[in-house]
Amino acid sequence: MSRVNTVLGPIAPEELGLVAVHEHIGYGMPGSELDTQWWKSPEQRYAETVPKLRAFAEHSAAYGGATFVDATGICNGRDVDYYKSLSAKTGVHIVAATGFVGGDTALRFFADASVDYLMRQFLHEITVGIGDTGSRAGIIKVGVSRGFKMKELDLRIYRAAARAALLSGVPIFTHLAVDVEPALAVFAEEGLPLDRVLFGHADDGVSQGKVNQTAILDGGGRIGFDTFGYDLELPDPPFWGRHRAERLEHFLGLVRGGYLDQVLASADANCSPLGWPGVKGHTVNYIFEQLIPDLRAEGVDEATISRIFVTNPADFLTLQH
Ligand SMILES: [Zn+2]
Repeated sequence: MSRVNTVLGPIAPEELGLVAVHEHIGYGMPGSELDTQWWKSPEQRYAETVPKLRAFAEHSAAYGGATFVDATGICNGRDVDYYKSLSAKTGVHIVAATGFVGGDTALRFFADASVDYLMRQFLHEITVGIGDTGSRAGIIKVGVSRGFKMKELDLRIYRAAARAALLSGVPIFTHLAVDVEPALAVFAEEGLPLDRVLFGHADDGVSQGKVNQTAILDGGGRIGFDTFGYDLELPDPPFWGRHRAERLEHFLGLVRGGYLDQVLASADANCSPLGWPGVKGHTVNYIFEQLIPDLRAEGVDEATISRIFVTNPADFLTLQH
């Protein structure tokens, strides 16, 4: 039977409904939980997060369900027991990630580990569970360290992820799609088909001119326009922001240019950021409040919208046997 791992157990891909494929319940740098100034109480985090997930569930009802893929991974504030309670409370399916946002957020214990050790760690979280939660990871996170260049540790994590993906059938998503050639080489060496990989943040402002879109798409990879909403039109935009119209035009170029099956879209928003203020005015619900209306205004039909947010992510997240 086809299935997708969520924090409350495996579900059929047809139950996913609308999928926000790259989001965060709460993301912080390793150690942020030790900071006295920024640390929030569990009650504050809950109060900030539940209304956003409830709104997401309401918006998604028309699509037959709501799924939130948490891209936080190990060492950046992932808290699976908390995700379980949020999912039970709001009805949103939550998919948790194993892996790391990037080599530079892997704590020393993991940074010094071998490919084999990392592979076993990922595989355990996918097939047995994360810690003692009993919840299995549904996806593996990997990424490029700061500086836009793949480092040795990043590549060790990519290789471990490729092996764990092949053994378990879960997909991989990446933080950043820059310096993609070394990543493509690792996946080719390991024999992982590129439709199991989502190259994320291909749409952000700082990556433009640094993403080899042709190599990703012609190799059969999936491309993530997953920072929708980090617009320069925000009152206090982040450094990775981009003009809304420019991002949309870039996206529509792929949607209309024969790559509809390979695109995925999300907002990369934090429900309740950990140890940093986050970006005010940006939530996962940007997908409904701005993006889908923008797509409709550009003449994109409902079947295409459903391919982007329902069919493509279900195909991507389904465990391969
Ligand atoms: Zn992210």
